[in-house]
Amino acid sequence: MLLLQCPRCKQRMRYEGRTILLGSKRKECVYCGQAFIIKDHIVQDIDRKNKV
Ligand SMILES: [Zn+2]
Repeated sequence: MLLLQCPRCKQRMRYEGRTILLGSKRKECVYCGQAFIIKDHIVQDIDRKNKV
């Protein structure tokens, strides 16, 4: 699970997926509809944090 931040409205949202599988996949912001490249806007890798 990743935490993403929209480059346009700065809202944060969760995305179910792993960084290694993303490539240049895009996601549409659930708040404003802006599409952005997921891996460029990851705030936090929630999976990794939880393992500690
Ligand atoms: Zn947005």
